[in-house]
Amino acid sequence: MRYEGTVYRPPSEAGSLIIQLTIGCARNTCTFCAMYKDKNFRIRPLEEVVEDLYMAREYYSRIKVKRVFLADGDALIVKTKDLLYILEKVKEIFPECERISMYGAPKDILGKTPEELKTLKEAGLDMIYMGIESGDDEVLTFVKKGATQAEMIEAGKKIKDAGMILSVTLISGLGGRRFLKEHAVNSAKVISAIKPEYVGFLTLLVEEGTPMYDQLKNGEIELLKPQEVLEEMKLFISNVDSEGTVFRANHASNYIPLGGTFNRDNEALLAQIAEAEKRNMFKSDYFRAL
Ligand code: SF4
Repeated sequence: MRYEGTVYRPPSEAGSLIIQLTIGCARNTCTFCAMYKDKNFRIRPLEEVVEDLYMAREYYSRIKVKRVFLADGDALIVKTKDLLYILEKVKEIFPECERISMYGAPKDILGKTPEELKTLKEAGLDMIYMGIESGDDEVLTFVKKGATQAEMIEAGKKIKDAGMILSVTLISGLGGRRFLKEHAVNSAKVISAIKPEYVGFLTLLVEEGTPMYDQLKNGEIELLKPQEVLEEMKLFISNVDSEGTVFRANHASNYIPLGGTFNRDNEALLAQIAEAEKRNMFKSDYFRAL
C-alpha cells in the first residue's frame, strides 16, 4: 500500500484496511477543517488503486481483511462505474471482506441517482459516513459547508433508502454562542428527519491554519465554555426523536463522554449531563487536543 499525506478515517474504521481512492477533499472549503488543506484534490488512477489492493493482499496474506475503508475525503465523488469496478476488485481480492465504507459529502450523494446508490450497495458499498456538522442553515453557510439543511436531509434519506448504513457527524459549539440554540434544535431536526444508524458528536477544536483560526484571532467568533457546550447538548437531546440511532460523544475533543441509543436513553443522557454540570468537572483543553 502507498499512502499520500495524512490519512484520516472514522474512529470505527480503526481496524479496517484503508485504501486511498481519492487524495484530499474535492470541496476543502469548510472553515473549521484542517484535514486536507495540504492536498490538491484528485482521483487516483484506478489501476494504481488496484495495485494497492494487491499489495495489501500480499501484506495481509495470513490475515482476514473484514473491513475496507476507501479514503480520502469524499470518495463517493468518483463516477459510479469506476466505483463499481473498485468494489468488484475489493470483493475479488478480499473475498472475506464483510464491509466496505467511505465518506460521502451531501452534494456527492445527491449527485447519484437512487438507482446508482442501490447498485453500489448491491456491489458491496455497505456504509457511508456523512459530515452534517450542523443542521442550521446559518451555521452551515457561515462555516462554508456547501450544503443546506434540506440537502443534508435529502442526502441522508437517499443513503438509507438505498439500504446502506449511515453514520453522521455533528460538531458541538460550531455555531458559537450566537447560534447555540439554532444549532442544537436544527441539528436535532435533521437527525429526527433522517434517523441514521449512528450519530457522532465532536466538540469544536480550532486548529491553526484554518480560516476559523483567523476568525477566532480576529474576535469574529467565540468558543463555547464547557458548560455552554453541555447546555447545547441538552437542547439537542431534548429535541431529537430518532428511535434506535446509536449516539456517541466520546471523542477526544468532547468535554465529557456520552453514549447511548435514542430515544431509549435520552433521559439517562440528560441525567448524565446534569450530574457533570453539578460536579463542574470537564476534560481540560490540554487533554482535548487531538
Ligand atoms: S469537513 Fe469534510 S467536506 Fe469539509 S473540507 Fe473537511 S473533509 Fe472536506
